[in-house]
Amino acid sequence: MNLSRLALAVVEPPIDVLNPFDGSLVGTVAKVGAAQVPQLLEQGRQGARLCAALPRHRRARILEQAALAIERDAHGFARLIVDEAGKTLVQAQKEVKRCVNTLKLSAEEAKRNAGEVVPFDAYEGSESRQGWFTREPLGLIVAITPYNDPLNLVAHKLGPAIAGGNAVILKPSELAPLSALRLVDYLVQAGLPEAVVTVATGGAELGRALVAAREVRMISFTGGFVTGEQIARTAGLKKLAMDLGGNAPVIVMGDCDLPAAIDSCVSGAFWAAGQNCIGTQRLLVQASVYEAFCEGFVRRAEALVAGDPALASTDIGPMITPQAAQNAEQVVNDALRDGARLLCGHRRQGSCYGATVLENVDHASRLWREEVFAPVVVLQPFDTFDEAIALANEPEYSLHAGIFTGNLATAMSAARRIEAGGVMINDSSDYRFDAMPFGGSKYGSLGREGVRFAYEEMTQPKVVCLNTPT
Ligand code: NAD
Repeated sequence: MNLSRLALAVVEPPIDVLNPFDGSLVGTVAKVGAAQVPQLLEQGRQGARLCAALPRHRRARILEQAALAIERDAHGFARLIVDEAGKTLVQAQKEVKRCVNTLKLSAEEAKRNAGEVVPFDAYEGSESRQGWFTREPLGLIVAITPYNDPLNLVAHKLGPAIAGGNAVILKPSELAPLSALRLVDYLVQAGLPEAVVTVATGGAELGRALVAAREVRMISFTGGFVTGEQIARTAGLKKLAMDLGGNAPVIVMGDCDLPAAIDSCVSGAFWAAGQNCIGTQRLLVQASVYEAFCEGFVRRAEALVAGDPALASTDIGPMITPQAAQNAEQVVNDALRDGARLLCGHRRQGSCYGATVLENVDHASRLWREEVFAPVVVLQPFDTFDEAIALANEPEYSLHAGIFTGNLATAMSAARRIEAGGVMINDSSDYRFDAMPFGGSKYGSLGREGVRFAYEEMTQPKVVCLNTPT
């Protein structure tokens, strides 16, 4: 697809993109390897010059036009996401809508966030100086993305990068690269010079070589902790933005609207088969309502249908591969061996793994301490609010958290005390608006996405100072 524009001498057999549900062939992409990196960098260098030279109104117009084209092709994109990533149609449609918004926000950012006046006369002795800073492109950015939101997470990198006048070498997940290629086709049709975004489809070996390249100014990575750590070790002196995993806690206080909390938490835990970085993994429920919450939550979880994502009756699509489903099964088996009690689920068929709920999970287990990234949730009772906060903050990393309460003071206290990149009040952890700052807290948290914030990460201030003594 996009690679044909590059005329790379790709020698390795192509990558088959398989439907996660039934293993059927969805498409084939070239397998670009480390040997092609010099050519990719050459194209990237040229792209950086071209994008920096585009006036802001042109960058904005390209992003707007691409957004409109994607909106017109919303159904095609949604079908592609179902086929390559296994989301249900409703989930895929939501992702397409968000991608359109991300690109429109990026277009706006290109036009408004160009710099600031610097108040030089605020410093005694600088009264004769006036000046400003502009927001300049970084140059060449390598963007590496995961499989689980194969369209919108790519837009979160390309939109702000283009708005800021950068070139990007994009390495999408080898498991689901097709939505990214289609998105870039629309950007080019909207007038983006082809060299500005180079899509390089390949695996970890390609990723490693791109990360190591000296002329790359920034690695914008979304993916898992293990990969993030490998990238940090290889990158050398370049900017790193790391959007890694979560293990989201949601606190359910006894004074909350319980039916609303159950509703929201079921969606938060099982959306996209739990393959969601802000998906709810640990439900901390006050003892006074634990039984009622548990009964309502488990009844709702049991009713969720796992299976073919192309069917309207399906609530939970497949995991990305049978191996990913087996891994989830193994994490649950380990927790059960360590004394956890199964409340529902833990049934796997191929890549499909049904909604699984456990209680009495050992806090030393992987299921409590690490991201499971599967439709698996842990219920944990607590007595006091202080206890809930301590439980919420136990893991060494975090992204989002949530709390359900009818008490404003409790909500505000939770917002202050929970260590997370975002605290959702009377919502599960699974809420995100594409303009808000988005990122983690504690271990591995580097940078923020959310269009304005990614744009600022992807540009650098340049100061101009005029000394004009009177
Ligand atoms: P992953 O880390 O396995 O892969 C992500 C990307 O990194 C892929 O393109 C992969 O090919 C590439 N890669 C692998 N090894 C590499 C290396 N050594 N050097 C460079 N690139 C390499 O992640 P995944 O399984 O595709 O995605 C799931 C993870 O992504 C979860 O942990 C999830 O929480 C996280 N995620 C985070 C966010 C966020 O915004 N914080 C959003 C979605 C997903």
